[in-house]
Amino acid sequence: MSIVSMTLTELSEAMKRGELSSREITQAYLDRIHEVEDKVGGYITVDEEGALEQAEKADRARASGERLSPLHGIPVAVKDNICVEGLPATCASRMLENFVPPYSATAWEKLRAAGCVLLGKTNLDEFAMGSTTENSAFHPTRNPRDLTRVPGGSSGGSAAVVAAEEAPFSLGSDTGGSIRQPAAFCGVVGMKPTYGMVSRYGLIAFASSLDQIGPMTKTVADNALVLDAIAGYDRRDTTSVKRGYTPMNRELRAGVKGLRVGLPKEMFAEGLSADVRKAVMRAARKLEELGATVVEVSLPSLQYALPAYYVLSSAEASSNLARFDGVRYGHRAAEYADLEELYVRSRSEGFGAEVKRRILLGTYTLSAGYFDAYYKKALQVRTLVIRDFNSVFETCDCLLGPVAPTTAYKLGEKTMSPLEMYLGDIHTVPVNIAGIPALSMPCGVDRDGLPVGLQLMGATFSEPTLYRVGQALEEAMEVRQ
Ligand code: GLN
Repeated sequence: MSIVSMTLTELSEAMKRGELSSREITQAYLDRIHEVEDKVGGYITVDEEGALEQAEKADRARASGERLSPLHGIPVAVKDNICVEGLPATCASRMLENFVPPYSATAWEKLRAAGCVLLGKTNLDEFAMGSTTENSAFHPTRNPRDLTRVPGGSSGGSAAVVAAEEAPFSLGSDTGGSIRQPAAFCGVVGMKPTYGMVSRYGLIAFASSLDQIGPMTKTVADNALVLDAIAGYDRRDTTSVKRGYTPMNRELRAGVKGLRVGLPKEMFAEGLSADVRKAVMRAARKLEELGATVVEVSLPSLQYALPAYYVLSSAEASSNLARFDGVRYGHRAAEYADLEELYVRSRSEGFGAEVKRRILLGTYTLSAGYFDAYYKKALQVRTLVIRDFNSVFETCDCLLGPVAPTTAYKLGEKTMSPLEMYLGDIHTVPVNIAGIPALSMPCGVDRDGLPVGLQLMGATFSEPTLYRVGQALEEAMEVRQ
């Protein structure tokens, strides 16, 4: 088996046995990047020299007999809206093209402390706004399963580099589906953790009440290992939660016997592709065969979650992105007559069309005359969605549904219609609105051989249960791609 096709867990065990070094593994990934990156375009920055240095350091630490994390010496790719000191963090925007953060995100600091090796920073839709990675100001990313198709987004680079074996795992961020949907399109495993589970410190904000960082991996077990490493309270993120910590893989192989799994009927309504429905329903039957009880449930306010998401996330984005004014940092226009023109030109030149659309939408819904009609209404919907989820979690251990209504579509297919693109987020945004965790994993392929993803959703901090169900499905369905 080639190094790049091994899972994180396999790599970790091979290093422990002394069969592979971090340097060998890192070199194998760099070679693979040289081989396929031209076609895939998953990275914005590759830090070859830094990676080899870190790998050698990891090997020295191992030689000295230190107690090591299972992630020690494992290479990783990090989405380019997550700060790593000394490397550009562009958010795939002209606005931050030359921005090199003077500090690191907590999630990366934790991986570094665990001994991980950073391969580079991955491509995304500008400021994480989009569903295809075509909104990157630099270049689109292609789906490694079919290069004529999108990898999903906004963490399309992070999903593609794992699928193309250009990294054994990656970090993404998920505000409305940006980890789960690209994971589904590329056939990898992605977790959107409970809001507050992973520190957002050093994640360049899109919509602060929704954003979460999470792992993208080849397998469910690998995913649980990474979440263990990056989760936890951080005093630098006031929304991170202080609580006793249960290791993610404690129940990983406990099976699903006796668990109650709900199928939200609203997630199987009109608009869902027949192939996606079939693959997800096959997973539901598998769970029954394995001893779980599968029941239909209803989340009546789910239909309002999508519009509420676009109101709330755009409102928060308009306020978060106000800091990019051409004065403090970021792109500054070369010519301007006065301060007003400096702002206008810098922002007009620095932001792409989708980011401008969200800022306009957000500013509109927050303006005095419309605040009650849109923003306040959206907050009320948020409460209803939370209540709906809470009530089904009184009787269900988790919910099963599709991640996206379709599999990966062609590049360019939806770029002309933002609304159609937004509709693709219908099954992922309710999870962010409610702050609950959800796991996206492969569950088969469609008639063209493209990966289909399923989504397991649970109550806040139920990640161990989601991993447990995911593990059982992964073993029973043999769908690892
Ligand atoms: N596609 C969604 C959007 O464009 C989700 C983005 C995300 O999760 N960052 O807003």
